[in-house]
Amino acid sequence: MNLEKARILVQGIVQGVGFRPTVYRIAKSINLTGYVRNLGNVVEILLEGEKSDIKNFTENLKKNKPPISKINSLKVEWLKPGPQEFEDFEIFKSSENFSGSSVIPPDLATCDKCLEEVLKKGDRRYKYPFTACTDCGPRFTVIRSVPYDRERTSMDEFPLCSSCMDEYRDPEDRRYHAEATCCPECGPEVFLYGKHRVESENPIKDAVKLLDEGKILAVKGIGGTHLVVKTRDDGPVKELRKRLGRFNQPFACMSPDVDTIKTFAEVADFEERTLLSRRRPIVVLNKNQDYYLAPSVSPVLHNLGVMLPYSALHHLLFQYTDEPAFIMTSANMPGEPMLIDNSDIIEKLEGVADYFLLHDRKIVNRCDDSVVRFRGGDMAFIRRSRGYVPEPYDFSRINPDLNVLALGPEIDVTFSILKEGKCYVSQHIGNTTKYETFRYLQNAIDHLMGITKTESVDVVACDLHPMFFTTKLAEELAEKFQCPVLKVQHHHAHAAALSVDNNVEEMICIAADGVGYGEDGTAWGGEILHIKPGTYMRVGSLMPQKMAGGDLTTKYPMRMVMSMLYNICDTEKLVELMKNYKGYFKHGEKEIELVSKQLERDFNINTTTSTGRVLDAISSALGICGERTYEGECSMKLESAARMGQDSLEIPVEIKKHDGMDVLDTTQIMLSVLEMKQSERTADIARAAQKAVSEGLAELALRAAEKSGLEVIGGSGGVFYNEAVSMTIKRVVEDAGYRFVQHKNSCAGDGSVSMGQAAVASWNCRDL
Ligand SMILES: [Zn+2]
Ligand SMILES: [Zn+2]
Ligand SMILES: [Zn+2]
Repeated sequence: MNLEKARILVQGIVQGVGFRPTVYRIAKSINLTGYVRNLGNVVEILLEGEKSDIKNFTENLKKNKPPISKINSLKVEWLKPGPQEFEDFEIFKSSENFSGSSVIPPDLATCDKCLEEVLKKGDRRYKYPFTACTDCGPRFTVIRSVPYDRERTSMDEFPLCSSCMDEYRDPEDRRYHAEATCCPECGPEVFLYGKHRVESENPIKDAVKLLDEGKILAVKGIGGTHLVVKTRDDGPVKELRKRLGRFNQPFACMSPDVDTIKTFAEVADFEERTLLSRRRPIVVLNKNQDYYLAPSVSPVLHNLGVMLPYSALHHLLFQYTDEPAFIMTSANMPGEPMLIDNSDIIEKLEGVADYFLLHDRKIVNRCDDSVVRFRGGDMAFIRRSRGYVPEPYDFSRINPDLNVLALGPEIDVTFSILKEGKCYVSQHIGNTTKYETFRYLQNAIDHLMGITKTESVDVVACDLHPMFFTTKLAEELAEKFQCPVLKVQHHHAHAAALSVDNNVEEMICIAADGVGYGEDGTAWGGEILHIKPGTYMRVGSLMPQKMAGGDLTTKYPMRMVMSMLYNICDTEKLVELMKNYKGYFKHGEKEIELVSKQLERDFNINTTTSTGRVLDAISSALGICGERTYEGECSMKLESAARMGQDSLEIPVEIKKHDGMDVLDTTQIMLSVLEMKQSERTADIARAAQKAVSEGLAELALRAAEKSGLEVIGGSGGVFYNEAVSMTIKRVVEDAGYRFVQHKNSCAGDGSVSMGQAAVASWNCRDL
C-alpha cells in the first residue's frame, strides 16, 4: 500500500530546545513513521502516513512547540507517495558536516518543573543548585562549539550517571538530550572559600548565614560572578562601595519573588511580566513610597534595578534568609570584564569579598545580566545580554548574502556578526580602552564566529573615530579577511539600528546621547538626521558649544556651563558667578581662572552638540550633581530631581540658524536656568529645563520632517532612557500628527551601535 510522504523543513530556534523530542512525541502519537534530524540551520522532518495525519502533525507542532523554541519558517514539501520505508519514527543524531549556521538559544531561567524538584524533599534533585532541563538552564554560556551537544559544552567534564543517562536517552522525558542536565550524583558542586576552603555540609546555607551577618560574598553563577551583600543596612552596602571605590553608581538587586519586590518598588503589569519572563533581565523600577532598602543601594535616584532568581542556586540563596533583596552586582575590576574563572575570582577580589561561593563548572562565555527600563509602557534595553544573546535579528530584507563583522563604538561595546540575513549582536563587552576588555572582545569575536560558523567576512564595519581601539582592530581584521573596512558615523549607526528595529527605511531620527565623533571632527550628540538606507543627511542639531578641556567637561560639567556662557557673558562676571560653584571644579578657584584663560585663548577647546553634556551642565548649574563618577550620573540625577517638581515654570525654546542649519539655542536655556535659580525651586527648574531641551529636539525634528515630507520621526541614543525626555518628545511629535518610533528590541544606547554599523554596511555593500 502506498503512503503519503512529506518532507518538512523548520527554521528558527530549533536546536537544543527540545524540538526534536517534541516532533518525536507528536509523530508517535498520530502513528506517523519517518525521522527528524538537525541539518545545521534547519530541522528536517520526514513523515509517512495518511495525508490528513501529516496535516494534523504540522498544526499540532506549531501549537505545541517547546516553550524556548521559535519557528521562523516551516515549509512542507509533498513527495511522491510510495511504500512504507520506515518501521518507526526515529530521532537521528545531529550531523557535524553541515553548512550554514544554527541558532543557539540563550540561557534561560529555571523552569517551574525544575524549581519544584529543587524544593521538593525526597526528590533526587532536592536542593541541587544546577538543576536544569530542555526547557531551561544555561546554553550560550556553556557552549564551546556547534552543533550543540554535551561534548562541546563545559558539561563534558561531568559524565552523566545512570539515572541521568536514562532521562537523557528517553524521548518521552523532558530531559531528553538536555545537554546541561545533571544531578548531585554526577554534576557540578558548590563550595565555600574564605582564606581557605571552608568545610561545609551545605555551602549555600553557610554562605547565606555570612550574608545575614553583613559579610560581602562573591557568588559565581551562570554567566558570571556577582558581588553579593544584604540590602537593609547601609553598613555592608557602604563597605562594599568603599572596597570597590564605587561610591555612587546604583547597585542592582535580586529579590525572591514579585510580591517582595512590591514591598519596596512600584511594579506595573508590563514590568511584572518582564521580571517573570524566562529571560529574567534586571528591570529598572521606581522606588515606592514605603521604600525601605538602604539609601546607599541606589543613592539619590528615584529608581533601582531589580531581578528575580534565574538559577536554582539563586533560588536556594533565598531559602535560608528573610532578606527581601540581595545586592547582585557584577564582580569585576573597574572597566574590566566580569570575573568567571575560580582562581581569578579569589585572587582579584581579595580585599573586596570576604567569602567566595564558587562551583566547578567552567563558564565558557561570560554574559552579564541584561537590563531593561520602561518609559510609559515602552521597553528599552539598557543592556541586552544574558537571556537574549545570541538570538539574532532578522536582516534578510536588507541583504541576505553579505557577511559583516561590526565592532561597535569604544566604551559600551557590543559587536555584531551579520550572516545569511541574520544579525547576531554579541553580549555586553564593555570598555575596550581597558586591555582585559579588549582581549575579551577579541575572544568573544572568535567564539561567536565559531558558533555561527562564520569563517570569513566580506566587510568589517567600525566607528568613524580614528583613535578607537575598535577602529584599529577593524583595520587588522580587514587585512586578515582581505576585505574592506567601512567606517560609520556614530549617530548614523544609532539611527540605522533604530531603522531596522522598527522596519522603517526612511525617517527623521533624533540621535541624542553623550558624544560620538562627527563627520566634521567635532563631538556630536544632539543630532537630527534624515536617514535613508545606508546614508544620512544631518539636518539639525543642538547649537555647537565649546568644551573647555575636552573630556574634563564630562567629569566636571561646570566646565561646560562656563563654556556655554563664555561668549555672551562678561568674563569677570562669569568668573564671579562660577566661584559659587568652586567645589564643582577639581582645583577650585584656580581652575576657574584656568578655564577662563583656556576659553579666551581657544586652547584645548573642542566643540560639541551633545545633549548629554547639556543635561549634565543643567544638573550642575542647579547644584544637583557637580561631578560625574559613573556614566550618565548627572543627567540621571537631574531626571530624579525633575520628577519631584511641578509644571509651574516655562523655559522658551529658540531655534536659530547656524551654518544654514536649524539649531536649538542651549545657551538661552542655560541662562533661563541660572536666572530662575535666584527665586524658584530646584525641582521645578529641573523639570522645565529638561522639558525645554526635549521640546527643542522635537521641534527641530518636526521642522525637518515637514521639509522632507516624511511622516515618521524616531528617537535613539542614551538620552532616550530618560523617561521624561522620551515621553515629552513622543507627545510633541504625536500631537503634531507624526508617528514616533523608538527602540523596542534593541538598546537605545551604544549597545546597538554595532548592529547599526552592520545595517549600514549591508545596505552600502549590496553589490560587493
Ligand atoms: Zn527545567
Ligand atoms: Zn546524574
Ligand atoms: Zn551613542
